[in-house]
Amino acid sequence: MSNYDQLISHYQTINHFNHAQSMLGWDAAANMPTGGSDARSQAMAELSVHVHRLSTQPQLGEWFNNAENELLNAEQTPLITEKKASLREMKRQWQQATLVPEDLVQAQSIAGSKCEHAWRSQRQENDWTGFEKNWKDVVALSREEAAIRGEALGLTAYDAMLDKFEPGTTTASLDTLFSDVKTWLPELIEKALAKQQSESIIMPSGTYPTAAQKSLGLEIMKLLKFDFDHGRLDQSVHPFCGGVPSDVRITTRYDESDFVQALMGIVHETGHARYEQGLPKAFAGLPVGEARSMGIHESQSLFFEMQIGRSKDFITHLSRLSADAFNAYKDPVFTEENLYKLYTRVDKGFIRVDADELTYPAHVIMRYEIERDLINGVIEHTDVPEIWDEKMKASLGITTKGNYKNGCMQDIHWTDGSFGYFPSYTLGAMYAAQYKATMTNTVNIEAAIQSGDLSPIFQWLNDNIWSQASLHTTDELVKRVTGEVLNAEHFRKHLEARYL
Ligand SMILES: [Zn+2]
Repeated sequence: MSNYDQLISHYQTINHFNHAQSMLGWDAAANMPTGGSDARSQAMAELSVHVHRLSTQPQLGEWFNNAENELLNAEQTPLITEKKASLREMKRQWQQATLVPEDLVQAQSIAGSKCEHAWRSQRQENDWTGFEKNWKDVVALSREEAAIRGEALGLTAYDAMLDKFEPGTTTASLDTLFSDVKTWLPELIEKALAKQQSESIIMPSGTYPTAAQKSLGLEIMKLLKFDFDHGRLDQSVHPFCGGVPSDVRITTRYDESDFVQALMGIVHETGHARYEQGLPKAFAGLPVGEARSMGIHESQSLFFEMQIGRSKDFITHLSRLSADAFNAYKDPVFTEENLYKLYTRVDKGFIRVDADELTYPAHVIMRYEIERDLINGVIEHTDVPEIWDEKMKASLGITTKGNYKNGCMQDIHWTDGSFGYFPSYTLGAMYAAQYKATMTNTVNIEAAIQSGDLSPIFQWLNDNIWSQASLHTTDELVKRVTGEVLNAEHFRKHLEARYL
């Protein structure tokens, strides 16, 4: 057996343990009674340790060296190109697992869970002083991690953290993209608000039973061609898409006084799910067969949510299906016109997760700038509330002075050291707009949505993105599909067309 084949078999084994881990995690979030929690945590921790041991086995380094030589000396055929991509992605996962020393990983895990756990009540109490004491350690350990990764990968500290979620994306490229957005976004938000001021909108005010919301969600999933033989919908406190490509688990949460969030949440998670379901079977269980990056994953959920879900043509379906589900044929809330207004309403708020499509990038860009400077040591963790306030005033014109719970303490990401993740959200929105601009050249998107058979759209996504998994780097993937690297211009045009 060649070392390359040994690696393939080894990573398939790792994948089987990850499969089990992911199902245990889904069950813990969607089904498990609270009394099961302690034993479940122990079982999952044990599995994590086992996977980590498999991922860092000492002979792997030698196997990678030998496999690289094997492929370098082989005749360059399409199969060899595929194998090279597969090797690159296995090596990437190996590096991610081995770069950071175990005692640092452990220290981070302890500091992260302590900080996150305390944050849950500290946020409610607006207790920055209490939070800051725990967070100090999380930031220090993340800087240590960033330095080690950066040194090994030849990247700056923050770029090394970005690399965990968005391989190939750098501060330089993000600075270019985001500074472009900052030149036009504030004015666009003002214009959209001025336009919407004169419009009347009817807010949902009835009771929308969970059972009806769920059956409506399932109808929408059918329209979006979710494969129910390979996945299901459940409920959890925080919506997510989990499971494995052959068995994708998505969740949502229902609020009986408002259907708006749950419904679009299902459209969003269905986008994540269809990407997973569309990943190539030929590479199942291998790193090269996995989703390209967090940003590309988000590009698919946001393609479903923003490019399809909030289009006028799709809202026509939503209007009809919601009136059916809630038996509310005469309710003015569910007219096409009113639903469209509900789903495209712009509001300058404090909270990222409640933000609309137009103000969302402002929330992400300021987080990016802050975490970049924090990890690079340009600012200290105690500077964050003040900088947050300045940036909120500059981008959305609202102040968070003294309001930590709705300011820098609102997100879970920083509490456990997930620095480098935030940019993925806005990168996803930009990729989605760029894909749409290209898709328009060959697919009549409006006609497909109007007809209720969206297959041509999904076929395009499958051919160009889902089936390509991680065969190409992110830049290569986007260039192959759209003829250029990521360009904020498509995002601007999309937003202008919708909001002006
Ligand atoms: Zn998402």
